[in-house]
Amino acid sequence: MEHKVVSENSTSRLPHYTNVSTTVRLRGKEVKIHGLCTGMVAVKTNFKTKKGFGELAKLNIVLDRHYTHYLPIWVWVVEHPEGTIVVDTGENTAVNALDQYLRAESWFLRFQFRNAAKFVVKEQDELPYQLKHINERMPDIKLVVLTHLHLDHTDGLKFFPRQEVIVSDHEYRYAQNNMVSTYPVWFNPNRVRYQANKIDIFNDAYPITAAEDLLYIPTPGHTRGHSSVLFRTDEYDIIFAGDSSYSQEQVLTGQLAGVQVDYAKSRQTYNQLLAYAARRKSIYLPTHDEQAGQRLVDKTFLI
Ligand SMILES: [Zn+2]
Repeated sequence: MEHKVVSENSTSRLPHYTNVSTTVRLRGKEVKIHGLCTGMVAVKTNFKTKKGFGELAKLNIVLDRHYTHYLPIWVWVVEHPEGTIVVDTGENTAVNALDQYLRAESWFLRFQFRNAAKFVVKEQDELPYQLKHINERMPDIKLVVLTHLHLDHTDGLKFFPRQEVIVSDHEYRYAQNNMVSTYPVWFNPNRVRYQANKIDIFNDAYPITAAEDLLYIPTPGHTRGHSSVLFRTDEYDIIFAGDSSYSQEQVLTGQLAGVQVDYAKSRQTYNQLLAYAARRKSIYLPTHDEQAGQRLVDKTFLI
């Protein structure tokens, strides 16, 4: 099984996830894509893999005493000709002191969170440091796209005070398990709505670029308004999938994550992802998938 269990205190044997870069062709021109690992998170095994019927699966997360090993927190950077785009913003070091970081949140949220996930984030994992290494200057980033509003996707927002940030209107209105107190005070994203008849299988999409080669598509289940970013390159598609699943294997085997808020929607998202990938070669990249970086470089398709 992929969810290798290690003991709760085994931080001495931390995995290391190497950043990746690759080049795709877009209307004949080369476009660079980077995968940056902005820290790691270990979650309860029942958080990653659903155990128990219906909502019992949520209780089983809290009761579970085992964590997964540390998983990556990927951020994706697309050097698109219309401007560089960042998909999700990853973590920041403040999350290491979780109790202090979430002090303004409700007791219940803190309790749930403390019993679900733990983080290791180094200063060099944060985005300003990482972007320097790929010669990307912060002011040159044009747009930040959020798949959803969980803190391991929003904690790097503070590095982008001048950028446009987009998130689905549905996610913004019906966010769940998000930590509002951790948002930057200026956070006021452009809340976008999907348009109909934009894409096969998913149908709805919000065009992120004028060329409509980057589409923001609904992939609900993890949260109600969760979205993914579909990049249609000349030869194949890339799906920056956020937390649609925790691994590619989950989609292939139909194994749901315990933490998803709507299991039926998650299953529907899996089916749509598979149906789409059957029509168009697609690389599938969830945020916490250990193999995602490698698949991007190796061009390993979902199916
Ligand atoms: Zn999430």
